[in-house]
Amino acid sequence: MAEHRRTKRSRTDDSDAETPVSTRGDPWLDDGNVILQAGSTQFRVHRSVLSASSPIFKDMFVVCDPSDDAAMVDGCPVVHLSDTANELHHVVKAIYDRSYHFSDRDLLPISVIAAFLRLGDKYGIDQLRSEAVSRLTSVFPTTLEESDRNWERRSSIITDIQYTRSLFIAVNLGRECSLPSVLPAAMLICSNVQAKDILRGVLLNDGTRCIMSPADQEACITGRLILLERQGTKTLKWLDPKESYAGCHQPQACDRERQRVFQAIWYPLPKFMPLARWDDKKLSFCKFCSKKSSELHNAGRQGIWDELPSIYGLPEWEELRKQQ
Ligand SMILES: [Zn+2]
Repeated sequence: MAEHRRTKRSRTDDSDAETPVSTRGDPWLDDGNVILQAGSTQFRVHRSVLSASSPIFKDMFVVCDPSDDAAMVDGCPVVHLSDTANELHHVVKAIYDRSYHFSDRDLLPISVIAAFLRLGDKYGIDQLRSEAVSRLTSVFPTTLEESDRNWERRSSIITDIQYTRSLFIAVNLGRECSLPSVLPAAMLICSNVQAKDILRGVLLNDGTRCIMSPADQEACITGRLILLERQGTKTLKWLDPKESYAGCHQPQACDRERQRVFQAIWYPLPKFMPLARWDDKKLSFCKFCSKKSSELHNAGRQGIWDELPSIYGLPEWEELRKQQ
């Protein structure tokens, strides 16, 4: 599909040399009047179409004079951009084809969302930026209610969000693109990633390594320890032997059940579940203990959620929402 070609220099170029081989990218529109080049990949597009979507492209094309010494391809000026070819591909496709992101609403991977957010920011393409922000803030929201509501369907909002690489990409996007409200929820899930993966980063399909900043790596690793302590004293407070269950209908049986659950969660290694939802399907408490335990559990996880930003050294939720 891709075609390799050489870029001819204009006649005024003394060197008469040819630039390295470039690749024809998608889209390549035969009646396009400008070539965008990212890395060695070129996209032939229309100045008018890109200008209508982006004030930055509009300004760029005003100063892009076909008669100057710029390299020409098929009579079109070549504009070199510092973006990656993949990101530019996603964004130009989306500008030309609304269905690229609107008809397939439920099928966008994090790589496309990253391209929409980074380049949407950089080139002032508000529609693409909004689409990316909407998806990221749905998966990494600022309220516990929204987090509970969206958890099951998160893969239909960002298709590959369950992978570690997607979490690291989301944290880095939150930092790079002024979207700090996604950080607490994203870093919470990163805290359940093995420390060696946090420290080494993960390989992406293009061979590059995705890694969080050293400060965010540290915050996620130390955050895990803080959250395990909160898990014991807040969410799972109902397992504390000192808790009173004076109205219990079957004290011996309920005590045994609490010991069984305690062992299952904390030994031999603790399960990381500071925000686990209350689920008594597999528990055999009396009605009184079940009700009291669920109340303690729900109050505890809400308390942890409220504290989440400060655990990761971030501003309070209210402040983060303002920056969304
Ligand atoms: Zn009981």
